[in-house]
Amino acid sequence: MDLLNTLVDKGLRRELPSREEALAVLATSDEELLDVVAAAGKVRRQWFGRRVKLNYLVNLKSGLCPEDCSYCSQRLGSKAEILKYTWLKPDEASKAAAAGVAGGAKRVCLVASGRGPTDRDVDRVSQTIEAIKEQNEGVEVCACLGLLSDGQAERLRAAGADAYNHNLNTSEGTYGDITTTHTYADRVDTVQKAHSAGLSACSGLIAGMGESNEDLVDVVYALRELDPDSVPVNFLIPFEGTPLAKEWNLTPQRCLRILAMVRFVCPDVEVRLAGGREVHLRSMQPLALHLVNSIFLGDYLTSEGQEGKADLEMIADAGFEVEGAGTTTLPQHRADALAGAGCGSHAQSGCGSHEGGGCGPCGSESVPAAAAEVSEARTDLVAVRRRGAGTDLAPNA
Ligand code: SF4
Repeated sequence: MDLLNTLVDKGLRRELPSREEALAVLATSDEELLDVVAAAGKVRRQWFGRRVKLNYLVNLKSGLCPEDCSYCSQRLGSKAEILKYTWLKPDEASKAAAAGVAGGAKRVCLVASGRGPTDRDVDRVSQTIEAIKEQNEGVEVCACLGLLSDGQAERLRAAGADAYNHNLNTSEGTYGDITTTHTYADRVDTVQKAHSAGLSACSGLIAGMGESNEDLVDVVYALRELDPDSVPVNFLIPFEGTPLAKEWNLTPQRCLRILAMVRFVCPDVEVRLAGGREVHLRSMQPLALHLVNSIFLGDYLTSEGQEGKADLEMIADAGFEVEGAGTTTLPQHRADALAGAGCGSHAQSGCGSHEGGGCGPCGSESVPAAAAEVSEARTDLVAVRRRGAGTDLAPNA
């Protein structure tokens, strides 16, 4: 298939595919799917070998958010029966983080609901970061606290944070349909603030919210332009009690096509399989490891994932290995650029050329505007988190 050969060549050279090529990946048939996975798998192996980085979420503050992100079970007016609690104390957060590290996680992601942190919240999280770093040698810490004000990224960096996550989530064109209390531009601004402060930027998307293929390609191209080091790909978990509860739009095959497209557009970036993998990929999860080089271990913010032990077995059974603490996740050119950014320069490099290629889609004149796939509502697979942070029960790690 000419399309796939072209995409592999471009991925190995870190060259940006054309939009038509990215759209053509999303329009491939089920018959072509294994070829698509194999092709994107070559690009994944070139930059990340067979390593899988494990990340562990600690929800520092759950629910009660004043923002109205439609996909989120913590949103304003959410009727989802999730855990609701205010800030964990540094030692509670550190204990939760330690469970993830003991399970094999290399990065701990500290997440708090809300529009963005106050300066007092930044103090609080700084103390938590210091406690985690003191008690877990070599662990990477990523903060995810919402929209940042001037100076806050620098303060988190000074406290020892390695990274900051803030997702674009969807295309600029559809952002207003998903959230009205802040804008796409606000989100871009925060990712840029994190980058400029020398934090490794982590920014990704949520698929399955009713968006078109064009929207998906738009957001992935926007991410490549922003040049984060890590791109989490979430598949919408349609929580009962949220406006998107009926949006069951994803099949395992579509999820794999989306992950392959992200890998081709962001070849040398940590592509992280995030929320919704168990719900939407189901028994096809191991195939996704050929596309992504990073996953979350155990539970998510407000929902339960599969057992941490099952994650580790899946990685071993599929022939991959958990990335050790002594290994640098990013390819050398990106790691060097990040080290440079830490010295105060915003290194916008390492993502290859930004020109589109000339090759069109293989054999197809037109690409459907939206996926014509039918998916069954699997509400039986959505389990609200009832263990770990904010409870008396042991975390899943
Ligand atoms: S995504 Fe974040 S800002 Fe939006 S409603 Fe959920 S917790 Fe609040």
